[in-house]
Amino acid sequence: MYLLKALESLFFPNCCAGCGRQLNFAKQSICLNCLAILPDTNFVSQPENPIEKIFAGRLPLAAAYSQFYFTRSSAIQSIIHQLKYKGNKQSGIDMGKLMGLAIKDSGRFSNIDFLIPLPLFPEKEKIRGYNQAEILCQGIAEVLQIPVERNLVLRTRATATQTHKNRLERWQNVHEVFAVADPQKPEGKKLLLVDDVITTGATLEACGNSILSVCNAELYIASLAFAMQ
Ligand SMILES: [Zn+2]
Repeated sequence: MYLLKALESLFFPNCCAGCGRQLNFAKQSICLNCLAILPDTNFVSQPENPIEKIFAGRLPLAAAYSQFYFTRSSAIQSIIHQLKYKGNKQSGIDMGKLMGLAIKDSGRFSNIDFLIPLPLFPEKEKIRGYNQAEILCQGIAEVLQIPVERNLVLRTRATATQTHKNRLERWQNVHEVFAVADPQKPEGKKLLLVDDVITTGATLEACGNSILSVCNAELYIASLAFAMQ
């Protein structure tokens, strides 16, 4: 059996999602070196942080944060690429766990009732095979012991690509494309919306406002990374 494992690691080495170096432990997805240098924002425990400022006046939030700064040609870019395009779900679960620990420590996101992954358009999810935000939710849920509601919010039509659009165009582009399947369920609850990367926040804004248009809920937002404009 060990020989089989040894052969397997020879032909299918378990590599770090951040730097590509071979890992020594089967269950690990990111090496300690990469974990140590990931650019933490520390927004989680910081009120009025840049993420909360993005949504100010656009979507009422109890608290919001991104775990890391998105930097180019870096471990975090590679991890997100692995999660979105290479089927590396374990890296997403591990990043989610890390977010769960930060959220737990902060005390600003207490008593959340449900985790809601920002839904992808169904066609896109079918092609990818999964929703990366849902993978992050799995990791967060493991730490916080909160249920993930994957079918509560639905994306009702495709949107054109967001690239080369300004903030207003992006907002119009994604406006009213989300629907809440069962508005009774989130009524009076605290919901944590989760996404992989926040850039302008337009999609999360549209999703959050769609939820608030059908029920009274308290919204929180968490993302793995923040890509500054
Ligand atoms: Zn690494």
